[in-house]
Amino acid sequence: MTGDAAVILIVEDEPPIRRLLRTTLTAQDYRPIEAATGGEALSALRHHRPDLVLLDLGLPDIDGLELIGRIRALEPVPIVVLSSRGDEAAKVRALDSGADDYVTKPFGADELMARIRAALRHRLQQQGAERGFASDDLSVDLVRRLVRRGEEDVKLSPKEYDILEQLVIHAGKVLTHKHLLREVWRDESVDPQYLRVYVRQLRQKIEADPSAPQHVLTEPGIGYRLV
Ligand code: CA
Repeated sequence: MTGDAAVILIVEDEPPIRRLLRTTLTAQDYRPIEAATGGEALSALRHHRPDLVLLDLGLPDIDGLELIGRIRALEPVPIVVLSSRGDEAAKVRALDSGADDYVTKPFGADELMARIRAALRHRLQQQGAERGFASDDLSVDLVRRLVRRGEEDVKLSPKEYDILEQLVIHAGKVLTHKHLLREVWRDESVDPQYLRVYVRQLRQKIEADPSAPQHVLTEPGIGYRLV
């Protein structure tokens, strides 16, 4: 991304939703380009090199999940999925296929803009290979494996650290239970209940109020996100 307005590719087959997205993005000084099919999306991706893709999963020509894989194979561009209310399984599959985030239809403009900003920021951090996380009260240095809450060093068990490391590497992005089980336990079939236990312990060590976490947030039915 340059100092110019970020180019956002809208992939959506319903003209009214496309129009709404175009208006909303233009009002926020983004430069929207549009595709009504998966085929148009792949061609726009090659010609316009967008900074982010907003993707409706229900397209007439290519299955949305397959399209995520094909976009991933071409460009490391952030993908925010537009999904239907209540379809948690589709959201999980989209995230596991390589989408960065999702917004549930019907969506509010504020939420959509916040998710877009987070996805663009996350990608910039990855490009800068930032190896840590810092906020007012929590800092994580992945190179030196140091975790601090305020002025105090925090001692984590290996599993707690591995979970936090994944969250830091993908800060701002939703990580599914499956992703964390695969990366931390090396086994996606492990009972997600174990993950819940370790996340609870992690929160007790790094959150000011573990019952109202400010950093490790739960995405119900889906996974976790570090903010
Ligand atoms: Ca659709």
